[in-house]
Amino acid sequence: MRGTTRRRDLAALERFTEEPNRYGAYRIALGFPNSYEIGMSNLGFQWVYRLFNRVPDVVCERFFSEEDEPASTFETATPLSEFGLIAWSLSWEMDVVNILRTLRAAGIPLSREARDERHPVLLVGGDIARMNPAVLVPFVDAFALGDGERLVPGIADLAKRGLDRDSFLRELAALPGFFVPALHGPRAEGAESSKVVIQQPMSRKEIRPDFEVPHSTILTPSTELADKLLIEISRGCTEMCRFCWAAYAMAPVKQYPASSILDAARAARPLTDRTGLIATAVCDHPQIIEILEGLAALGYHIALSSIKIDAIEAPILEVLSRQGERALAIAPEAGNERLRRHVNKKVSDAMLREKARLVFAHGFTRLKLYLQVGLPSETDDDVHDIVRTVADLHEIAVAEGRRFGRVAELVPSVNPFIPKPHTPYEDESLADDASLKEKLAYLQRELARIGNVVFRGMPVGEAVWEAYLAKADESAADILEEAAAGTPVRRLLKTHRGRIDAVVRPEVAAGAAAPAPWSFISKR
Ligand code: SF4
Repeated sequence: MRGTTRRRDLAALERFTEEPNRYGAYRIALGFPNSYEIGMSNLGFQWVYRLFNRVPDVVCERFFSEEDEPASTFETATPLSEFGLIAWSLSWEMDVVNILRTLRAAGIPLSREARDERHPVLLVGGDIARMNPAVLVPFVDAFALGDGERLVPGIADLAKRGLDRDSFLRELAALPGFFVPALHGPRAEGAESSKVVIQQPMSRKEIRPDFEVPHSTILTPSTELADKLLIEISRGCTEMCRFCWAAYAMAPVKQYPASSILDAARAARPLTDRTGLIATAVCDHPQIIEILEGLAALGYHIALSSIKIDAIEAPILEVLSRQGERALAIAPEAGNERLRRHVNKKVSDAMLREKARLVFAHGFTRLKLYLQVGLPSETDDDVHDIVRTVADLHEIAVAEGRRFGRVAELVPSVNPFIPKPHTPYEDESLADDASLKEKLAYLQRELARIGNVVFRGMPVGEAVWEAYLAKADESAADILEEAAAGTPVRRLLKTHRGRIDAVVRPEVAAGAAAPAPWSFISKR
């Protein structure tokens, strides 16, 4: 079987920073609802896999959502339908449909009401579970809201007790951080105080010096981030840009001790010399220089996903450039200061130019710029200013590049603004398709006139679909089922235009509308 051969080849290349349990009486299937390559690049998934496998007598096996592959686990090819508990780590709205595709492939009824003692209990955790689980309520038995460290022990304990389905769900529903729609009701009306409290540290004091930082459990060359040891160094961001779900969901900011970060890196060094630091805002960490210097001293090549503009400083760039890093990503979000101020992004035009100059002066040859169109209050002038800003940065790249005989490439990556739950912009509308397309086409055309600029734009249809999945509730079930059955998103957007528009472009004034589907999710 093709899938099995491929899995064997992939497994042969894996190296473990901590060996998982291979034998135990209780087996849990943990899925990432996308390909192996993407799933194995996800630190949350890898960390939860480790936490489950640390529980004595529990064996956790992985599975992924891949076309043409059987719905079975990666480790032992056991069909998913044979497990008592199937859990997913869900990090991205677009992967919601992949959960349903996997159920179809596994022969497990999609509707939770159609399942009984013969079927596994289905549990979903991860960022999307805590952002808006409502869209999956018709399909999933339980949701885990919060950090794996706090939720995995409860799940594993119940799994080990060999409870029947109803007892398992009843006991799970009584634990903090779990949302069980069949018992709590679709809006958790039946939960204590009608809310489900996310389980995560709520104060910096909870991060002790011996805190074990989440880091990769498995290294493999067969991922998007090949052989990179991922280490989380902090969670949350003080900036609180009004569109940023992570900043609001993860607040207050938790920064992990440099000593714990370096301990994890030291232990894994025999396995790899590449590391990637994960954080909502990487360079805001007060010990960032100590961390970067420590990793460099261990012989690591360090990559940062993106760097907060105001945190760009010469010592950081020096460490990165010394060990060969030549690419950076920053997020100006908008083309001018006015709009940045409006969305609470505290970056002036002067600061952006000054920090870009510093980047180019350190020999970086590629600067990615995350930008958005369709932000609240945006005017045509604001969109024109994106072109002006990129042109300004290009001029700086030319001036600084003379020394190196090379002009750095700019990569403006432009997404439509997508309103997300739990942010001050959750009631905002996605801009209409025509204006988004026009703005993206304008930017593509105008930016092509500037030298060394590679434009990337998110397709508008993709943005509408993501915006829909982010805010939809259980009434989206039939649309999701159609998607899982293979109807292309393009056609779904056309066929269900009215229903999708009602979610992504609500006409009811904020305050007059019914409570949002995620309103029962609470941080305290
Ligand atoms: S700076 Fe970045 S991480 Fe911080 S709140 Fe703004 S968008 Fe989010």
